[in-house]
Amino acid sequence: MPSPRVKVSHMSRYQKKKERLERQMRDAPSSVHLDKSTSNLFRIRTNAGQCLDVHDFNEVISIDPNKKWVEVEGMTTYEKLVDATLPYGLMPSVVPELKSITVGGAVSGTGLESSSFRFGFVHETVLEMDILLPKGNVITCTPENEYRDLFFGIPNSYGTLGYILRLKIKTTPIKPYVHLVHRRFSTTSVYFEAMKKESEKKAVDFIEGIVFSPDTNVLTLSTFCDEVPYTSDYTYMNIYYRSVLARNEDYLTVRDYIWRFDTDWFWRSDLFYAQNPLVRLLLGRKRLNSVFFTKIFRWNSRLKITERINQFFGVHKEQIVQDVEVPIQHAPAFLTFLHGEINILPIMIGPVIGSPVGIARFPLFPLDPKTLYINIGFYGIRRTDYPEWHLNKLVEKKVLELHGVKMLYSNSFYDQETFWRLYGEDTYKILKQKYDPTGKLVDLYAKCVKRL
Ligand SMILES: Cc1cc2nc3c(=O)[nH]c(=O)nc-3n(C[C@H](O)[C@H](O)[C@H](O)COP(=O)(O)OP(=O)(O)OC[C@H]3O[C@@H](n4cnc5c(N)ncnc54)[C@H](O)[C@@H]3O)c2cc1C
Repeated sequence: MPSPRVKVSHMSRYQKKKERLERQMRDAPSSVHLDKSTSNLFRIRTNAGQCLDVHDFNEVISIDPNKKWVEVEGMTTYEKLVDATLPYGLMPSVVPELKSITVGGAVSGTGLESSSFRFGFVHETVLEMDILLPKGNVITCTPENEYRDLFFGIPNSYGTLGYILRLKIKTTPIKPYVHLVHRRFSTTSVYFEAMKKESEKKAVDFIEGIVFSPDTNVLTLSTFCDEVPYTSDYTYMNIYYRSVLARNEDYLTVRDYIWRFDTDWFWRSDLFYAQNPLVRLLLGRKRLNSVFFTKIFRWNSRLKITERINQFFGVHKEQIVQDVEVPIQHAPAFLTFLHGEINILPIMIGPVIGSPVGIARFPLFPLDPKTLYINIGFYGIRRTDYPEWHLNKLVEKKVLELHGVKMLYSNSFYDQETFWRLYGEDTYKILKQKYDPTGKLVDLYAKCVKRL
């Protein structure tokens, strides 16, 4: 194991970069946005303003294996962060499934993963943050200090209150391998019962599921282990999400477990025919990952290539890429709705506890702290004759009806009143007035719904 230490050189580099960015922010006239190498945002903004160059805020500053935290710059991807912590026998307590998601992005955008039944959302694992304010100064926020209002207000603020430049986050000890057990259920209610039981029992390290059809629901329970009879490889020709149907158990190295969905961008690699063995072979191992797929996707969205082809052939398609949190008792009803009205498969399923400490602390993403929620993710495109965004609007209505909360990384259509009722209007307005009184950063509704 490498020796535990704080990398002083990295900290002094961070200080210099921070000062440069403070000047850049002070000089920016109005309306700024982040210029970074990767993005997992699904809504394309119409008016992005001046760029703040944050490409180089991508270093791991220090790791303390005894206290089990890691200090990292805000635009560091989880891939880089995981590579830095694994040699110390640690991983960030919650690692979103895609390599290209950055730590600051996951905190400001409510990231989660298969350890969230235990640890909650990524933001629940943060100990301290440096935040660049629109005025051009950086403040350090902790849960106890004078800036705790911002510490708790940043999750789900999507860069509308300030930008996270540095974070100290909790890590969890690992073992070298993960043993996966796949259980299949033909009845939705029994499936969620089993998921609830396992989440409460906490006997395993990771819990998640994939729904392939109304009567094919897979629950995957995974546990760290020291020794294994074999390991599978889903980084090239084999496809992870399909394996859960074909096998009852599996073994992966801890790194391959963490990135099991990255190779095929969950299953969205099908958009580029990349699940065809020949296309896979031609693309090569290096291109099979979320970084490559999101780049092509965003490039296509900007140039409107698919949109123009569809227009030419008179075809109307609706893209439905959404993640929602629904209390577990309403999850069967939400799945019935998805199967009946939305018809996109597979569906990603993950249990997440409202709060691991039993207190509601994050006002912009209010969840009942005692409730086990089910994160339900569905990503696809459907040919329809409905008016524009009809299916996405149906999803929003259903989430509201079932007392759930929708994540905001994709397109949203709520009216102002409903939006603010859901996402903490009173606290947000106070924070906005205190930390961005001149409105240099657009507000959350303008950014997430109006796409400004
Ligand atoms: C197809 C898809 C799958 C997804 N799957 C998962 C998943 O498996 N697990 C999961 O946890 N999440 C998932 N997400 C959601 C993802 O975590 C959020 O969208 C997250 O915000 C993306 O982070 P990013 O680093 O890519 O940020 P970006 O996409 O670059 O930015 C997202 C937003 O956050 C703001 N932002 C970015 N960095 C910072 C910062 N340092 N400080 C303040 N604001 C910032 C940006 O201004 C922007 O509004 C998924 C999203 C998509 C589209």
